[in-house]
Amino acid sequence: MFVLSTKKRNILVCLLLVVLAAVGGVLATDYFDDRIRSLPIGNETKEVPHITALCYHEVTPARPKDIFNVPPDQFRSHIRQFREQGCNFIDLQDIEEYVKHNKPLPEKPVLIAFDDGYKDNYTYAFPILKEEHAKASFFVVSHSIGAENRMTVSDLKEMVAAGFKIGSHTVNHEPLTSMSDKQLDYEFKTSRDELQKLLGIKVYCIAYPCGFANDEVMKEAKKYYDFAFIASIDPHHPQTLFNINRYGVFKWNTRVASIFRQTAFK
Ligand SMILES: [Zn+2]
Repeated sequence: MFVLSTKKRNILVCLLLVVLAAVGGVLATDYFDDRIRSLPIGNETKEVPHITALCYHEVTPARPKDIFNVPPDQFRSHIRQFREQGCNFIDLQDIEEYVKHNKPLPEKPVLIAFDDGYKDNYTYAFPILKEEHAKASFFVVSHSIGAENRMTVSDLKEMVAAGFKIGSHTVNHEPLTSMSDKQLDYEFKTSRDELQKLLGIKVYCIAYPCGFANDEVMKEAKKYYDFAFIASIDPHHPQTLFNINRYGVFKWNTRVASIFRQTAFK
């Protein structure tokens, strides 16, 4: 029998997401609506911040044809284009302070975030972000730290010391919607605790692997985090603090105008 490894399966799930996004808004919107309920959790009334939250993966010159890879020159160009558009970069701490203390966010706030903790985030994106004086945040899979092609504890500590923020991307990067509450608790609590211990930071938010969540996932996430991100291509999708929209940035997004078409700013 043909059996896919967990890693290959996850890559396939992510690829499916991309294909859906590319096929058309209507189909994809229906798909997301089916998977992600829009009802607020419990008595949550806090307003969701009106931000453009982005999800990058790899930033390397090595694989120019990989759709998940935004090569370094293109990434630097994105930062400059956002600035030209009057955007202000924010990070996870800014959102935390907004959520917990009502601290206002700047005009046109853009969250640059990276998923999965790839080594090239440290090698290529980190120097560019420092040179451009841009804030950014990194969602890290706790059991992938130090693995092949992934950032090490030392890399992450250096980035934290330079002011960059870290969020959880679970322990194992498995799809969450089919997990029991016990498994969800493990993925949420253990990843948070490991990141906090390894890096000496406070971790208060999570990005769900592949952007999927449902009511049960969000309810469990709320036990350990203050807010969480899904992936959605629909800027009008109803949001709560535990399904804040985030938009995947891909190789074909050469101009940030193509990103704004998916987001709140027009
Ligand atoms: Zn991921």
